[in-house]
Amino acid sequence: MIATGTCFLRGDQVDGTVRGTVTFEWDDTEEVLIKGTIEGLKPGKHGLYVCAFGNVVNGNSSSGVHYNPCDKKHGGPNDEERHVGDLGNVEANDDGVAKFEMHDRLLRLAGNYSVIGHALVVTENEDDLGKGENDESLVAGNAGKGLAWGVIGIANK
Ligand code: ZN
Repeated sequence: MIATGTCFLRGDQVDGTVRGTVTFEWDDTEEVLIKGTIEGLKPGKHGLYVCAFGNVVNGNSSSGVHYNPCDKKHGGPNDEERHVGDLGNVEANDDGVAKFEMHDRLLRLAGNYSVIGHALVVTENEDDLGKGENDESLVAGNAGKGLAWGVIGIANK
């Protein structure tokens, strides 16, 4: 394993119900393995994205737009046209728990496109992956506000 990262997400809701943990593993192959569990969500799909910054002093309003070092438009994780930070959606079950595992071919844990030190955010609504046919879709996928966030840090291997 070349690098691992971890992120503890929580929000600023009064009841603090949305929270989760996401880990990133990279063994210097073409893909990073991303695994996580987020609870306290409404059942259904929720967007997940990495931010331009890791400043969560004011929650996800200070962590910036989607991490976009290649100057692309918003999209889905399998699209050519996407932000490096675009991780698509995770889906919460009837108990509000999203348990997921995905591989991403673009983001990294070191060097160019490293997401270490950047914030990760789970959103209120489903991310339309840039297919919403309006301007906001190509910026952030009409995914609504962030519900929980955290900074991706270096983890023990
Ligand atoms: Zn995006």
